[in-house]
Amino acid sequence: MRKKIVAGNWKMNKNFQDAEELLDELSEQIEKGQKSSKVEVIVCPPSLYTEMALDLSHSEDEERLFGVGAQDVSANGQGAYTGEISADMLSSMGVEYCIVGHSERRKYFKETDEQVAAKVDKLLAEGITPIVCVGELLEDREAGRHFDVIRTQVEKGLFGLKQLDFVKVIIAYEPVWAIGTGKTATPDQAQEVHAFIRGLVEEKYGKEVARNLSILYGGSCNAKNAAELFAQNDVDGGLIGGAALKAEDFVTIINSFK
Ligand code: PEP
Repeated sequence: MRKKIVAGNWKMNKNFQDAEELLDELSEQIEKGQKSSKVEVIVCPPSLYTEMALDLSHSEDEERLFGVGAQDVSANGQGAYTGEISADMLSSMGVEYCIVGHSERRKYFKETDEQVAAKVDKLLAEGITPIVCVGELLEDREAGRHFDVIRTQVEKGLFGLKQLDFVKVIIAYEPVWAIGTGKTATPDQAQEVHAFIRGLVEEKYGKEVARNLSILYGGSCNAKNAAELFAQNDVDGGLIGGAALKAEDFVTIINSFK
């Protein structure tokens, strides 16, 4: 059975005090039972706050409330790469998940599908679950080539993996035109692409692997539209940016599964 997942991508937001306040609030609300227990909740703060997030990810009686993820990882193992953070560093801290190939990394840091594949390898070698983002630009969709773009990103980023590794991956479909714009994909548009991705995976790895893959939707998903998106057959949850920065909205999204 594939997992229902809601992951929050904080991006480069919140100073230390504000991050602590948000994590405190989130832990409190999840602990109070406002989180449906069938949903895996993941919080990806800036890596600088990993230790604090890990501390607050468990209740006083050691119940795990959410998993902690990173927003990026180095494609290199270790050494002279100033400013980079390795998969080994993340796993040694207790980080369980890591976003890879976010459109902002692709756009501002010129991240390629080859780098995405290298990062995925590094994470899997350290037992960290990659959340691999794919998605088309507005001009791709307007030109009707969104399926081609997504096929290329999925094939180059992930299809080098052996089946035993591929089954550990989460995919997030994030149409770039919907990220941070307030312009959400319609539930039908999301479902169409999610089904397409699942179909690609089925062709490559077979029905069982495709059926068990969690595919998240990301792009202006919020407390108001999450339920409709999550009700789609192939939408297994969300990767949430802006709406993950308010505990109340994030918890509403977590509770948006039928
Ligand atoms: C994201 O950055 O992954 C994202 C989905 O952002 P937003 O929800 O703000 O569109």
